[in-house]
Amino acid sequence: MSETLDYMKENHIYRTTTEFSSAQSKYVTLNNKKLLMFASNSYLDLCNNTEIKQFAKGIIDNYGVGSGGSRLTTGSSLLTKQLEDLIANFKNTESAIVFNTGYMANVGTISAICDKEWTIFSDELNHASIIDGCRLSKAKIIIYKHNDMTDLENKILSNPFKKGLIVSDGVFSMDGDIVNLPRLLEIADKYNILSMIDDAHATGVIGINGRGTSEYYNMTKNADITLGTLSKAVGVEGGYVCGNKILIDYLRNKSRAYIFSTALSPASVAASLKAIEIISKNLNNVRQLQYNIQFFCKELQSNGINAKSETAIIPIIIGDEQKTLEISKALLNDGIYISAIRYPTVAKGSARLRVALMSSHTQEELKFTAKRISLRINEVLV
Ligand SMILES: *Cc1c(COP(=O)(O)O)cnc(C)c1O
Repeated sequence: MSETLDYMKENHIYRTTTEFSSAQSKYVTLNNKKLLMFASNSYLDLCNNTEIKQFAKGIIDNYGVGSGGSRLTTGSSLLTKQLEDLIANFKNTESAIVFNTGYMANVGTISAICDKEWTIFSDELNHASIIDGCRLSKAKIIIYKHNDMTDLENKILSNPFKKGLIVSDGVFSMDGDIVNLPRLLEIADKYNILSMIDDAHATGVIGINGRGTSEYYNMTKNADITLGTLSKAVGVEGGYVCGNKILIDYLRNKSRAYIFSTALSPASVAASLKAIEIISKNLNNVRQLQYNIQFFCKELQSNGINAKSETAIIPIIIGDEQKTLEISKALLNDGIYISAIRYPTVAKGSARLRVALMSSHTQEELKFTAKRISLRINEVLV
């Protein structure tokens, strides 16, 4: 272990936690310094939302702090039922099931459905929780080129299978690009393969009402399985899976990650309920985020940085691990918090600044940040 840690330190891929002393919001406090947050997954800035906090506090008074059991024993409440119904409605599906995290939703879904009789076709840039779910299932795993539907179809044709699953992120977590859903679903139909989309970074972000990838493409049809998290735009914690009644009933009875873990606390469930209600009712929040994405990309471009994204994730590829860290540290001195993403989260030599926007960032803050990023990159790379 210590040899591995030494190796990681020498290669600038050793990591530590960063301890903030404030709520996660547009401004955060780190080492007594107020910083502008440009790295949070709380895209709609709901983690510290007053209305949601008030509601969750009231729920703690009535329901307490712990759920007291797993979902099939004593851990379910009227609140969890309400949340599942609300999610199914929000995502335009028949039914939904809540897990404790998005990670558990992926691992618990794929491993419950697939076994060694199955072949899984998985995008090379899929989230680690999808990869872990595939591995745990013992299915045959075929990796296709990133968002390359021709390669996907070729791999399907060259790998005879009995039962198949195609799985992809909706919005890719480190590149911020969007899956070619129309084509993926066509292929799934054509070859009679189950389809699964992870909308973790899509829900609350893309689509005219922030409903995610299928709304982004104006499609009425969803993948067979749509999955997501309550920890990103929704601003709380938890994961969910949406689909038809049979799928959800099956997962409730078969998914070990769902069955064998204590249910979310009532406050978390209540906070998610209120957050999704707010996202549904107050569309300005989603629209403002979408406006900020466009505005910020333009600002970066006019500062000489080649950036493009339709999602809240805007990667700025630097390449070298150490230089990426240096730039991120320099930006901290400017009062801006942006994560340096390195191997093994992304491929070696493709280290990047991963900017994450919030709907609450103002035009001045977006302008200032784009300028400082450009300046700091030029300083370090020249
Ligand atoms: C963050 C993320 C997850 C995990 O969700 P958590 O609720 O944080 O466990 C799953 N899939 C994707 C694509 C993600 O980005």
